[in-house]
Amino acid sequence: MIFRSKVIASRRLTPSSHMIRVERAEGFRYEPVQFCGLELATPSGVEEYPMSLASSPTQAYLEFGARLSGSPWKRAFAGLVPGDEVEIDGAYGHFILDADRDAVFVAGGIGITPLKGMARYLLDTRSDRRSVLVDSNQSEEEIAYRAELAEMEGRNPRFRVIHTLTREPESSGWTGRRGRIDGALLDEAAEGLTDPMYYLCGRGALVADAGGLLAARGVRPDRISFEVFRGYH
Ligand SMILES: Cc1cc2nc3c(=O)[nH]c(=O)nc-3n(C[C@H](O)[C@H](O)[C@H](O)COP(=O)(O)OP(=O)(O)OC[C@H]3O[C@@H](n4cnc5c(N)ncnc54)[C@H](O)[C@@H]3O)c2cc1C
Repeated sequence: MIFRSKVIASRRLTPSSHMIRVERAEGFRYEPVQFCGLELATPSGVEEYPMSLASSPTQAYLEFGARLSGSPWKRAFAGLVPGDEVEIDGAYGHFILDADRDAVFVAGGIGITPLKGMARYLLDTRSDRRSVLVDSNQSEEEIAYRAELAEMEGRNPRFRVIHTLTREPESSGWTGRRGRIDGALLDEAAEGLTDPMYYLCGRGALVADAGGLLAARGVRPDRISFEVFRGYH
């Protein structure tokens, strides 16, 4: 399905990422959580990028979040204001929540987008499945959707968030976890869950590393689902 839709909100998420909300066209359906082609008018012409939805099908609007760069599409994305129109083509993909299983979500940076939508889906459907999000970012200020994740954690006793920071200065006030995602952290995330599905999302290196750690722990391939944000240079 291809449709034009109005932007209803646009704001900076972190110093290096930005989010927009757009109207959801009547009849537009998606699974939690697929991706769309998002077509924007840029100074160098019309361009379409694949973008995961950051919303849940239970929500009345669509949301996208992008890590910014100097590319024309990203500059156009960050410059959108309410009332602007974008073209949406979708939804596509097989990165879809199995709502009958417990879940471990593993996000690298802006790879949080579809995983946030999945967590929202579990909350909105009052699922009795348990889920844990491992969210890796470089620094505290780069944690996208931090308040929204905390709000979902507060409202869903079966959902837990573990942040880890890889480049936060030692002198900062961060008292949470530091370092890259490792086997011990994945073990801790899975504690108390029953045969969970793992959902990995982010750049290729993060997905490959987390997938390797899971394989080494004996997690079966059919328990691992992933979305690679190809296109980052
Ligand atoms: C299924 C899927 C879902 C994704 N979801 C997200 C998401 O939710 N958030 C997010 O930030 N990113 C997402 N991405 C990645 C996104 O599509 C971009 O590739 C990425 O953000 C890098 O864009 P950039 O312009 O900043 O890259 P740069 O490294 O700055 O790219 C420089 C140049 O490369 C070219 N280029 C880069 N990417 C693309 C592309 N995808 N299509 C055409 N030309 C391109 C352009 O010419 C651009 O000017 C997703 C990718 C896939 C495959």
